[in-house]
Amino acid sequence: MKITRIQAVPISFPVPANKSVTLGIGRSVKRDAVLIRVDTDEGLTGWGESHHGRCPGAIAKLIDTTLSELVLGMDATDVNGVWARVYKMQIASHGMGAAAVLALSGLDQALWDIRCQQANQPLYRMLGGTSKPIKAYAGGIALGWQEPESLVQEALGYISDGYRALKLRMGDTPKKDIARVQAVRKAVGDDIEILTDANTNYTLEAAARVLPAFAEAQVAWLEEPFPPQDRHAYATLAKMSNVPLAAGENHYTRYEFDTLIEDNCVRYLQPDLSKTGGITETMRIAAMAGAKKLTVNPHTSATAINMACSLHLLCGVDNPGYFEGDVTGLNPFRDHLAGQVAYKLDSNGCVSPPEGVGYGLTLDMDFIKSHPLIEGPCYV
Ligand SMILES: [Mg+2]
Repeated sequence: MKITRIQAVPISFPVPANKSVTLGIGRSVKRDAVLIRVDTDEGLTGWGESHHGRCPGAIAKLIDTTLSELVLGMDATDVNGVWARVYKMQIASHGMGAAAVLALSGLDQALWDIRCQQANQPLYRMLGGTSKPIKAYAGGIALGWQEPESLVQEALGYISDGYRALKLRMGDTPKKDIARVQAVRKAVGDDIEILTDANTNYTLEAAARVLPAFAEAQVAWLEEPFPPQDRHAYATLAKMSNVPLAAGENHYTRYEFDTLIEDNCVRYLQPDLSKTGGITETMRIAAMAGAKKLTVNPHTSATAINMACSLHLLCGVDNPGYFEGDVTGLNPFRDHLAGQVAYKLDSNGCVSPPEGVGYGLTLDMDFIKSHPLIEGPCYV
């Protein structure tokens, strides 16, 4: 079954001011995603999601031109072969680094969709797993830099929805961050897991200042205190921290995860299936992590496609960690792209993958057409 056509479809929606959230990377003003459609000579069509890389038009162009030309005519079910060709011809040498890996990630998901359709099987089964409950936390673009009282109200809402874990956005001043964590811990009691994410916005000094209070509040992880390349800062912080560190949403391919695992500073790995090289590469990363007794806790991108693929993958590996539930107030990519949400929370705060062939979603073509690309930055 040969690949006959590859087409990228960048999509966007504006975030109105009253739904905007401020976090360590800025204030959200729109959301983007790049969908990838792959057609075959046997009439099967697969869809995947590439992360936008903050320039969705550029990622789409890369897919439509270079990646498309490199893999047209290849066997659509040969996910390893396609991955290896794009790596060799585009990524290994002066191939625009992260942008090419983002582009490959969505292409890889579309090929897995086709593999599943050919076998008439759900993705979790093709990955060697079965459907099972995966514990979820309330994440996405939510629980931001608010006053503690407002943050507590938002947190209690997610707990009443059924979540048993939630992630607070940090990376503000240490004083404000500590006040937020302490207020939420006091309000939710001891049985709820509190995770924190600085979105790379801490200095070493700021991170060192918040850690004792975070440990006191039994924070279960501190995510991305620093950008991924600040390996020395991670090593310094890990030595002084009682709070485990998490990272991975900005690490690309098994090669960067190899370094991350080898550095031995981060206890929770968070590959994003739309960023790090797709399903194929995240399975490899999961296997590498498993050898070091680490779990995979995929970072969630924008649409139901990424969410469903992440859930299937968590059911297909033997070291699943948390699923990042997207509790963003406004996200039509989550709610309407497929006419159904990718997951439902059960009474234990767990989620299961959607049932059906592939990742279990049928996309709404009218929705895709009615959400064309909006140029410009998504955080300001
Ligand atoms: Mg994060």
